[in-house]
Order: sequence, then structure tokens, then C-alpha cells
Amino acid sequence: MRFLFNFDKINAMKIKLTALIKEMNNIGHSPATSTNYSYREENGDLWVSRSGIDKSSFAPDDFIRVDYNGVKIDPLSPSKVSAETLIHCSLYNLFPDANVVLHSHSIYPVLLSDAALTSMKFQGYEILKGFNAVSSHESLVEIPVLDNSQDMEYFKHELDYRKEELQYSVFMIKKHGFYAWGNNLFEAKRHLETFQYLCECEWLKNKK
Ligand SMILES: [Zn+2]
Repeated sequence: MRFLFNFDKINAMKIKLTALIKEMNNIGHSPATSTNYSYREENGDLWVSRSGIDKSSFAPDDFIRVDYNGVKIDPLSPSKVSAETLIHCSLYNLFPDANVVLHSHSIYPVLLSDAALTSMKFQGYEILKGFNAVSSHESLVEIPVLDNSQDMEYFKHELDYRKEELQYSVFMIKKHGFYAWGNNLFEAKRHLETFQYLCECEWLKNKK
């Protein structure tokens, strides 16, 4: 019975995250097969979306189980893990409470990041309260920006080094996209939407 219960729970998570991935695809977060997603089960197992799939046709079976170094558990599986799997693993290693990691290539954060140096600053917006530990629109929130790279070890190193700056559970990769995470799907989605909204406001405001 215990096995059946866990099995049902795992599938429920895959189904919920699949629905969110498709919803995000519909509003421009994952064009051209980009982005990747993951979750951590209560027993610590990590599941990451497989590489190269059009997110409009993503299915619950498109998650691959990996270890904490981003290597797939079943070596015979024909599916390829996403190139950015090590970023997900780094976040799970750094934040024991993180259970869902989302990635977005949405256009406004990408545009806004072009002029950023090492961070993006936001203040005065009510929606800042979407981040944990922010209780007022007057708070100054700084989201770290990392340079883009194809070297995943670079990201692992940067995330370790800049852990203190990751308090809002979001970071940006310049002209690439952003990662948002949380201790459940609800929280990760809220962080993603908060950052997306802030970037859209700032970009449109500056272009007036
Ligand atoms: Zn990406």
C-alpha cells in the first residue's frame, strides 16, 4: 500500500508540472524547445525534463530521474538529459527546502538583462511581495545576473559563490533566461510570475 501511495503521488506531481509547463509554453516562456524543469520527491529523488522536446507537447513521461550530479539514473534510457540539468542540481544542493525548479526564456527578462551588470534592481512595486521575506513595496530587491555560458560548471561555481544573493529564489542569466524555484509548485510559480511581471513593467516603462 505504501508503494502504491508514493507511486500515485509521483505521478500526480508529474501531471501537475506537465500542465504548468504547457501553460507556460502558451504564454511565451519556452519557445523553440527551450527551457527545462524539475522537481524533488520527498525521498530526495530528482526528476528533470528531457532535452529537445517541444514544450507544447510535453508529457508526464518526459521527466528523467537523475542523481545530484545531473547524471541519469537509468543508463539504458534513450532520453537525453537537458544540458542545464547541473543548474537544477546545484539549486537542490544549495537549498534543501527547494522542491521545484522552473526555467523561462520569456522575452522581457531577456531584453531587460542586456543592460544589467551583476544584478537587476526593483523597488516600488506592490508585486514585490510575491517574493518570500518581502513585506513592502518599498523594499529594494536585487536579483543576481550571471553571464551566459555553455559551461555548466561555471554556473555551479557562481551559484555556490553567490548563494547569499539567491534569497529571492530567482536568478537571471544574461540574454538567456531565468530560473525560479520554491518549496512546492505553487511557490515556484509565484516567484516566476513575480519576476516576469517586474521585468515587463521595467521594460515597458523604460520604452515609453
Ligand atoms: Zn535556458
